[in-house]
Amino acid sequence: MSHLTRPGKESSYASHMTTAQANGTGATGGRWRPGDHILWRYRANGAPAVHVCRPVTVVRDTPELLAVWMAPGTPCIRPQLADGTPVHREPLATRYTKPRVPVHSRWTGAGVLKLARPGDPWSVWLFWESGWRFKNWYVNLEEPLHRWSGGVDSRDHFLDIAVYPDRSRRWLDEDEFAQAQTAGLLAPDQAGRVRSAGREACRLIDTWDRPFSEDWPDWRPDPAWRLPRLPENWDRPADTPEPAEPLESADTAHPTGSRWRHHPAC
Ligand code: MG
Repeated sequence: MSHLTRPGKESSYASHMTTAQANGTGATGGRWRPGDHILWRYRANGAPAVHVCRPVTVVRDTPELLAVWMAPGTPCIRPQLADGTPVHREPLATRYTKPRVPVHSRWTGAGVLKLARPGDPWSVWLFWESGWRFKNWYVNLEEPLHRWSGGVDSRDHFLDIAVYPDRSRRWLDEDEFAQAQTAGLLAPDQAGRVRSAGREACRLIDTWDRPFSEDWPDWRPDPAWRLPRLPENWDRPADTPEPAEPLESADTAHPTGSRWRHHPAC
């Protein structure tokens, strides 16, 4: 943990959580503080590997809610097909069967605020247009977040629900949800649980419960916050700490070598 006190290091991942662990409170008892940088990751479906990694800034961390901000321009990891095709451009029939590789990318456009209640099989994301014009909420059905010292891990469940300011809602990605079942990435019983979770989320939407009833659309990031960096070992097993001397700092996160393959969005 020497890196936590190294002079001049302004960005340390989950430093307070690490301190909490040192104090014996552990990953489930410690809390991150606003401004802390953590990793919001997704493991691949049907495999243990992390295939999405988004460095985010903690907005709020209480027993009831984890809120994080993914800022525009954040360096992150997303999957693409091994032949270079972006996932969303691959025909649905082969989208989940062709081999994939993780690639470095940057989050473009407006940032995203992510809200997750511990134990919920979804998180709620807020999207804005340019100029902070609120666009919509997005219920991302997923495994309940698993907290670890460096952030949170989950698995995406394909099906999503868009929620609009007029309180209307729309199921999204039904085709991907169906194809994932065809490809064997979701067993029938699991798919049933995902659908049930979506219906439960719909009840929250239809009764305009939290977080939709709260003033999160008016939330704004602290202008003093710096862009989180992507640690070299972004895919490390949960509860493996970041190395004391990061191999890649925020100031050098723009490599031009062949290892770094740029893509427009995470
Ligand atoms: Mg999703």
